[in-house]
Amino acid sequence: MATMNFCPRCASELTIKNDGGRDRQACPDGACGFVHFGDFSIGCAGVVLRQESGMVKALLVQRGQNPFAGSWQLPGGYAEHDELLSVAVEREVEEEAGVVAKVNDVVAFRHSLAGTTGGPSTNIYMIFRLNYLNGEPKFDGDEIADAGFFSLDEMAEMEAVQGLSRWGIEQALVTKPGSGLSAGGEELRNQRPGWQLFGLEDVDMKSLRR
Ligand SMILES: [Zn+2]
Repeated sequence: MATMNFCPRCASELTIKNDGGRDRQACPDGACGFVHFGDFSIGCAGVVLRQESGMVKALLVQRGQNPFAGSWQLPGGYAEHDELLSVAVEREVEEEAGVVAKVNDVVAFRHSLAGTTGGPSTNIYMIFRLNYLNGEPKFDGDEIADAGFFSLDEMAEMEAVQGLSRWGIEQALVTKPGSGLSAGGEELRNQRPGWQLFGLEDVDMKSLRR
């Protein structure tokens, strides 16, 4: 992981400290207590499916900027640190493609360690299935060069469809909506703000409570 030189809290020069069984960069000031555990990030992407002339099509956006300008992928982006993932993915779908959709469930996620995919941080990238509500694809022509709904056959004819996006769409196409990890019932969801629980819904909980 990237090396830090100075404490982000108090600007002391960092030293090495054994913490949790391995050496980590840490602040020498015990009162500050900062330990550098590494850089982490969370991304999210939305599979939005809808029927068009008898075919199921998925929403894709085309990147307008590097890296990977011209490539087609699921709409998505990084979640803010103070933003629930389900809110982040709905926001990104609307910002990038002008489509309003609501989170249904999680169909897949990717875990990649810093450096292995060129990313600066260890990243979790959640792929959600969203229910299409309304809006026709539109884009800013800058960050996003194009957007639209495409069938798998149409994608096969397009250049530069990101493999991970296509795989996420396939995961969603071959599974029932709601069969993935879904946000918990209202009683759980409302327990506290800024807190959301995802679990399997298609489970017979009664069998545990005999
Ligand atoms: Zn410090």
